[in-house]
Amino acid sequence: MLQLSSLSDIRQHTGLLRQQGQRIGFVPTMGALHEGHLSLIRAAKQQNDVTVCSVFVNPAQFNNPEDFRLYPRLLEKDAQLLAQEGCDVLFAPAAEEMYRQKPKLSFDFGDLERVMEGAHRPGHFNGVATVVSKLFHLVQPHQAFFGQKDLQQFAIIQQLVLDLSFDLELVCYPIIREEDGLAMSSRNRRLTPEQRALAPHLYQALQLLQKSLKNHSVEEAKKETEAFLRQIPEIRLEYLEVVHAQTLQPLREVSGKVPVALCLAAFLGEVRLIDNLLL
Ligand code: AMP
Repeated sequence: MLQLSSLSDIRQHTGLLRQQGQRIGFVPTMGALHEGHLSLIRAAKQQNDVTVCSVFVNPAQFNNPEDFRLYPRLLEKDAQLLAQEGCDVLFAPAAEEMYRQKPKLSFDFGDLERVMEGAHRPGHFNGVATVVSKLFHLVQPHQAFFGQKDLQQFAIIQQLVLDLSFDLELVCYPIIREEDGLAMSSRNRRLTPEQRALAPHLYQALQLLQKSLKNHSVEEAKKETEAFLRQIPEIRLEYLEVVHAQTLQPLREVSGKVPVALCLAAFLGEVRLIDNLLL
């Protein structure tokens, strides 16, 4: 596996691959790789000639400095895992190289970012859109692979690709979970054993909400689910939403006529986790 860190090297390399008519599949990540990431690498490999994975803990998308400082960084281990999966190129730039100067351009995705992650993490999607745009220009992929785990991020990137006419196809893959239902996340490494044991309640809450919506209104079902989570004092719910799965706007009722997503964010101690369920 080729490992590159300079912007000019990756641009040159993928430019050459494109000239040779090779299809490039791209998986952008922040590292501390787990099975969720690796499922995307496998999908990219299956559908393309060359697979590129980026590992970059993007400072611009962290609204919480402590979260950035404590985000797990395991580049050597990541490189090993990627090589085992048959990934062809690992692109791991330094922040100073990605941001030689502070970007002046900023993004506003309107209603798409006024809810959930966008509402609770000011500046987050601006940072995501900035780095993803840079990476798309550098890597020049034919396809880019993302996880449903970050549902709102995928909607934002779809809008970005549409608005800026990026010439690539976006692909979204399902959430990979631990055996007890906890959605895999690099941040799970930061949980204490006690917090880790409680974390599956988040997915259980989404399952309860799904069940409850079958014979209750959205308001009642949300109340029941919030009460379920309040039983665990270590879990601090930030939001629980029933939304249209594409526009991400909150729904007052679930009629079966529109695609529905159940989404939540919650803190266990200082660790903030998100999860969602598509109906
Ligand atoms: P991250 O490193 O957290 O920025 O994630 C990189 C990519 O992997 C994003 O597209 C995520 O949505 C995706 N991803 C993260 N966790 C999972 C998971 N448990 N299952 C599937 N994809 C995931």
